[in-house]
Amino acid sequence: MRYLAESKRVIIVGIPGVGKTTVVSKVVELLKNKNISVSVSIFGSIMFEEAKKKGVQSRDDLRKLSVKQQKELQSLAAKKIASITDNAVIVDTHAFISTKEGFYPGLPYNVLEILNPDSFIMITARPEEIYNRRMSDTTRNRDIVSIEAIKKELDVTSAMLSTCSILCGSPIKMVSNSEGNVDEAAKGIISAMGFSNGT
Ligand code: ATP
Ligand code: MG
Repeated sequence: MRYLAESKRVIIVGIPGVGKTTVVSKVVELLKNKNISVSVSIFGSIMFEEAKKKGVQSRDDLRKLSVKQQKELQSLAAKKIASITDNAVIVDTHAFISTKEGFYPGLPYNVLEILNPDSFIMITARPEEIYNRRMSDTTRNRDIVSIEAIKKELDVTSAMLSTCSILCGSPIKMVSNSEGNVDEAAKGIISAMGFSNGT
């Protein structure tokens, strides 16, 4: 069910370390300057809030839970986000999670039905940039993989996202977050959301 027709709901995906959270923070700053009320839901953090009640101790341990447990947590998180009524509702998430069973969708159909987004954004960067960002970010406990594996992750993200777009009838915009260009990436998101970039 859609709670407020006038709120713009966008789902932002990208592989770990591509810069989603960094770019989204900039988007929030720019929208607030325009007096647009905005909320950001970091899907993994909301899942973690629920998981803590079940004894999970680190956000980076979520992906090690069984697919069944992750599915339950996803549903709970989606329902929380669906009840937000700001002008701009931004969801920062992953198109897939690497589990021991294989690539698990971050946005399975039941979650999409609940979130009902207006559009999807895929944040991209060069594989080498993503590799370096993962290596130099000491605030997170990321799985370190090869450049080849990062290329594969980018491919799986766009494949998963195409399906999301078809299921929801909502467009996808690819936004490049190249080194040192967070502002440009943020402006690309704002225009995809239908808010103008003018002052
Ligand atoms: P995760 O999915 O694991 O949460 P993320 O996509 O949210 O990752 P961030 O945490 O935003 O990624 O960024 C990863 C690292 O890359 C951070 O150290 C951040 O400062 C840096 N970074 C992000 N974007 C850029 C950019 N355009 N130029 C340089 N460094 C960047
Ligand atoms: Mg993040």
